[in-house]
Amino acid sequence: KTNTLTTLITKQDILPVYKPRKPFSHKGTYGHALLIGGSYGKIGAVQLASRATLVSGAGLVTAFVPKCGYLPLQSSVPELMLITDTNDTCISNIAIPIEPTVIGIGVGMGTSEETASAFTDFLNQNTKPLVIDADGLNLLAKTPALMEKLPKYSVLTPHAKELERLIGKWSNDFDKLDKAINLSEKYNIILVLKGRFTLIVYKKNLYINATGNPGLATGGTGDVLTGIITGLMAQQYEPLEAAIFGVYLHGKSADIAVQDFGYEAMTASRVISYLPKAFLDLF
Ligand code: AMP
Ligand code: MG
Repeated sequence: KTNTLTTLITKQDILPVYKPRKPFSHKGTYGHALLIGGSYGKIGAVQLASRATLVSGAGLVTAFVPKCGYLPLQSSVPELMLITDTNDTCISNIAIPIEPTVIGIGVGMGTSEETASAFTDFLNQNTKPLVIDADGLNLLAKTPALMEKLPKYSVLTPHAKELERLIGKWSNDFDKLDKAINLSEKYNIILVLKGRFTLIVYKKNLYINATGNPGLATGGTGDVLTGIITGLMAQQYEPLEAAIFGVYLHGKSADIAVQDFGYEAMTASRVISYLPKAFLDLF
């Protein structure tokens, strides 16, 4: 019904997008990524996302978390800088005294009343490019009027359940696609529809990713993807490029990792530790 332009993402598409590091560069060249998320018992999501952001090449990475995230993150990720909320267990007031290049928001964040109101206030004043995942998406779905506040070219990374909360139940795959395209067109945003073959939707342009495997069907791998896309946007990849490249790299890491670990023993951390090999495969 809809006229779409559909591309299967291959290594040949990725090679010209990839920006190798320049010899005369410094950390400022590669941007400052900010990750906002975490809540009591889900600080690990921010740990995974921020490690993935670092390993994807961002110049600097800061995380904004509730107070309970300070010690575990400071001691487990020495490269990461931290800003804490005034609340101990969930985000209640997002105050950011830095000028990040890009903000990734939502992983492990929870959907408490306090966090919902902090998220609303944040979107009302934010002007930075955004990557939104997990509870950030769930909060958007709860208050659809907030969609109006998204900067254009925001990247949203829903899995099937999160997508259903955003666009409602679909009757078949064509209907799902129509609804996703409509959402992308209405708000001028990029949708990353995660699954076995992750589909990136920007208006009527569709990009199908073929990397990745069922080893990724384990907690935290989505947080890793959020971190990768945020890290690429920090380095000035265009949001659509970052979404395509990020999804490709994420799956590629898992495809290389599976040769050493098999499917069952794959974890989100192992996907991060194979990202270097996914980058090296581009040379
Ligand atoms: P989340 O559900 O947010 O943790 O995200 C899971 C991530 O793993 C997404 O990037 C999915 O595309 C990926 N993933 C999960 N299961 C599979 C699968 N069977 N094949 C390929 N990728 C998968
Ligand atoms: Mg997720």
